[in-house]
Amino acid sequence: MSYLSNETLVQLAQEFGTPLYVYNANQISEQHEKLKSAFSNCNARFFYACKALSNINVLKYIESLGASLDCVSINEVKLGLKAGFTPDRILFTPNCVDFAEIDEGKQLGVNLNIDNISILEQFGTKYGGSYPICIRFNPHIMGGGNYKISTGHIDSKFGISIHQLRHIERVVKTTGLHVTGIHMHTGSDIKDVNVFLQGLEVMFDLATHFPQLEFIDLGSGFKVPYQDGDVQTDIVLLGNKVTEAFRAYQKETGKELQVWFEPGKFMVSESGYFLVKANVIKQTTATVFVGVNSGFNHLIRPMFYDAYHRIKNISNLNGSERIYTVVGNICETDTFAWDRTLNEVREGDFLVFYNAGAYGFEMSSNFNSRFKPAEVLVLDGKAHLIRKRDTFEDLLKNQIEVL
Ligand SMILES: *Cc1c(COP(=O)(O)O)cnc(C)c1O
Repeated sequence: MSYLSNETLVQLAQEFGTPLYVYNANQISEQHEKLKSAFSNCNARFFYACKALSNINVLKYIESLGASLDCVSINEVKLGLKAGFTPDRILFTPNCVDFAEIDEGKQLGVNLNIDNISILEQFGTKYGGSYPICIRFNPHIMGGGNYKISTGHIDSKFGISIHQLRHIERVVKTTGLHVTGIHMHTGSDIKDVNVFLQGLEVMFDLATHFPQLEFIDLGSGFKVPYQDGDVQTDIVLLGNKVTEAFRAYQKETGKELQVWFEPGKFMVSESGYFLVKANVIKQTTATVFVGVNSGFNHLIRPMFYDAYHRIKNISNLNGSERIYTVVGNICETDTFAWDRTLNEVREGDFLVFYNAGAYGFEMSSNFNSRFKPAEVLVLDGKAHLIRKRDTFEDLLKNQIEVL
């Protein structure tokens, strides 16, 4: 893997300032290659989940790799089109949107993934079988590293329950809907390959009910290693097992189906480095805090998901190791990491958070009237600024002063 070196990261922090998100394009390409190679013996398509990181340059780069795009809002669809994805390479997988938004997706010509019977009914009534659709099922499988990112369990709002199959069939039969795909996505951070295989068995059962079926979409949730020794989804094993399963299905039914995936985190997480500066070292009775020039307004995953991000002091690589709690400057509890061993941190040192490509900048906000960070894309070793840091004017941009 072509990781960015500590020296490069320090240089980028000095050149572009901090806090700064840096994405190494070549690592995105390497992840994509891993997927392609793991599934090279089956008919697979990969739809990068736009919501992980949607900077237009990242989308253009992923487009150039030949991947497709999974979008959860009509605006993501429009970003994808702007980035050069043709409509056939875009899958629109919204949840709880109104019919008008689905309709707009249809007018734009993208693949539609419908996850609600009432929408299915409206779509069928309006368009019959004139436009192919995919149905998102809830397979009632518990997957995912955290309740907030588990989407396939019984209490989840996502998908149409597999137990409602009879109702779906009724709608399809009555309206003549043209169902070319079935979909499941059970969550994020799924370590166990068996969760996918279990889901696939459910999908194969469903597949026999849709004679015009062309693909099965297994969603995503591939786990990437956030800390040393972390278990990750074994993509090679998954590739072998899925290939085997589709072969067996074909043998049994005579049907060759495509398999689709929607990797977000897997594609971009490791490519991302979040650079911050240690503003203060604060010794209290119980703890040594490093207070950095950022907070959960820039990287919310630790506070929101209890996520672990590796942190390194890139300004003092040989400093003696000490134990710190790394906190941000937001005015409520804002902890990036408890009891971390770091090379001695001095005020002004640069720290890097690894694996910050997915759901990092994307979930940032202006909370506390702080600026959102700048973003840099490194392509073949050359750094390009791809988003300017906010300015004071940005904070007021859409406000209307009436007093
Ligand atoms: C979020 C999401 C993904 C991507 O999940 P990752 O864990 O980032 O790979 C894929 N498909 C759908 C429908 C999603 O909502």
